[in-house]
Amino acid sequence: MSKTAKQQHDTKIIDGLHIARTLERRIAERTKTLQHTHGIIPALGVILVEGNEASRIYVNHKMKIAESIGISARLKTLPPDVKAADIARQIEGWNNDPELHGILLQLPLPEHIDSYPLLQAVAPQKDMDALNALNAGKLFWAQKKQPVSCTPMGCLLLLESVITDFTGLHAVVVGASQLVGRPMAQLLLQKNCTVTNAHIATRDLDALTRQADILVVATGSPGLIRGDMVKPGAAVIDVGITRLDDGRITGDVCFDEVKGIASALTPVPGGVGPMTIACLMANTLTAAEQSAGIKTESVFALYQNHCR
Ligand code: NAD
Repeated sequence: MSKTAKQQHDTKIIDGLHIARTLERRIAERTKTLQHTHGIIPALGVILVEGNEASRIYVNHKMKIAESIGISARLKTLPPDVKAADIARQIEGWNNDPELHGILLQLPLPEHIDSYPLLQAVAPQKDMDALNALNAGKLFWAQKKQPVSCTPMGCLLLLESVITDFTGLHAVVVGASQLVGRPMAQLLLQKNCTVTNAHIATRDLDALTRQADILVVATGSPGLIRGDMVKPGAAVIDVGITRLDDGRITGDVCFDEVKGIASALTPVPGGVGPMTIACLMANTLTAAEQSAGIKTESVFALYQNHCR
């Protein structure tokens, strides 16, 4: 098909910032209610190992949004040469602090530290990125009450803003990390999609992506997805964030090429990023509500029931 023939879709640019702000307003209302009824202020602890500029910027955003919606945010910064045992001690302290409801260990960690044992040390009910094996396993079992990884949760909410029936759609997730690609594939399976999870060793990626009704791309490989790799009418979610030499941020999808082919597309910035933060806040609120024995709505219900 020629490029002109393909460019027939009036692509909806999904406004992640707007959807995130809507969700945050609802979280702020519920946070206020929790404080009035139970005297509990949802509290999030973030551990940042210094030395990664991008991580520092993300963490600053997270702290700012938390404070703006009434969630108490504590930041523990550690030096780049920190020992794993020191991080473990911090996690242990927060695990045992009844006034702290969520813990986020900002990734990536420096190369000398193995993140796996530390992520397993986070108490499952406080594990805001859902990287504890128990939470990952519960996702596999389609359980609903555990925290769900923030970025895939945000991507699904963005998809739900443009798709009403996911049943039988072919979803291709490019990227298979524990943080994004794998939990994303699980969430789309739960929506009854037929899911293909591609990664760096996938052969003939183009042929796969061209079959996708839903295409979620999380590789960190800027411009990987060209216009001719996208099925006309597909919904495309770009998770990638790469800072270019000139300081601009770009995604994994060639936005200008895919616009006009996809039916819906997220921009970078302003797409998935704000949703990741909003979902972190939702996980923190939910953990605080659960700590008070409140039967809480999942973030999906929170959004679907109150924000649409
Ligand atoms: P990662 O490096 O852990 O995993 C990348 C995955 O992509 C791997 O499975 C790898 O096999 C695959 N991959 C890499 N290059 C590929 C290629 N050319 N073709 C096919 N597959 C390829 O990264 P991650 O933590 O999953 O993050 C991915 C991207 O998403 C990064 O740009 C990261 O900055 C971004 N990110 C954004 C948010 C957000 O809130 N918007 C959150 C998390 C991650």
